[in-house]
Amino acid sequence: MKETVVSGIRPTGKLHLGNYFGAVSNFVKMQHEYNCYFFIADLHSLTTHPTPQDLNGYVKHVLVEYLACGIDPEACTIYIQSDVPEVAELYLYLNMNAYLGELERSTSFKDKIRSHPDNVNAGLLTYPSLMAADILLHHATKVPVGKDQEQHLEMTRTFGNRFNRLYNKEYFPEAYAFSYSDKLVKVPGLDGKGKMGKSEGDGNCIYLADSPEIIRKKVSRAVTDGGPTAENQTKPEAIQNLFDLMSIVSSPDTLAHYNDLYNKMAIRYGDFKKQLAEDMIIANNPIRERIEDIANDTDYLRKVAHTGAEKARESAQKTIKEVRELIGFKPF
Ligand code: AMP
Repeated sequence: MKETVVSGIRPTGKLHLGNYFGAVSNFVKMQHEYNCYFFIADLHSLTTHPTPQDLNGYVKHVLVEYLACGIDPEACTIYIQSDVPEVAELYLYLNMNAYLGELERSTSFKDKIRSHPDNVNAGLLTYPSLMAADILLHHATKVPVGKDQEQHLEMTRTFGNRFNRLYNKEYFPEAYAFSYSDKLVKVPGLDGKGKMGKSEGDGNCIYLADSPEIIRKKVSRAVTDGGPTAENQTKPEAIQNLFDLMSIVSSPDTLAHYNDLYNKMAIRYGDFKKQLAEDMIIANNPIRERIEDIANDTDYLRKVAHTGAEKARESAQKTIKEVRELIGFKPF
């Protein structure tokens, strides 16, 4: 039997290169090897209180972009999380055995407290239980995600094992983060610090839907410095980030060429950025063109979402029936 894979992305905006190289590029490969469920995490996105119009628009964006990236609804199950109410039921059960201390220790929760001190809601605190529900609902063992999600996966294993111990049955398997590259990917942003992310601002992200002109403009504005001051020096974070981006979108020869120029203190950041932008455009262009085509085909999008919801619910209902019995919810 094929192993099961689950992963999702929050519809809080358009997909960027971090989402693509951290997650979706793996989805596309995995769909032919595993039993895959890829969803649009609209319940997760409610922690940020989107307006109904924004939420609806972003759900459509992510669906269109999943398809444009090459996720094939014939090869896997694509669904919208809120179409599967069983997720919310399992989330409730898992929350009964998720402890305040461990939820508060999550790095992403601590980051959110720092960045949004005015909106520290219970949904944010219990984000790991909802993520665990997404994964355990289908008995997944592999979860293609970027480096930022590693700790949440560890919590999923903790919650699944705790449930198994409580009800004395090896029911939920352990799920591990997965990437085809040798380690989990972290795609840096253009602002000189940290990862590419929607909450870091538009200038920090290259979106899959960005036109070549926009990509050139954003990359030309990426943070750099006055240049290396010694041969073979360690690169400061902002420069290392641009090299990391180049290692993702450019050929190894191109990367080696600019590394060499940097080490010899002969690099011209203008040329380096131009090359980086052109290689990003090459990576992005086919996806961007498909986004435009698919976005107009509303009938197709409805059909994909409907079929996906039916397939996901079949698996989810089986789990919920068994979980209810294990918990003791059964007729006298
Ligand atoms: P989110 O946008 O937080 O819902 O993330 C959706 C998926 O994209 C998760 O698997 C993340 O790990 C991945 N992801 C988001 N940003 C990055 C990034 N900068 N580098 C690598 N993976 C990322």
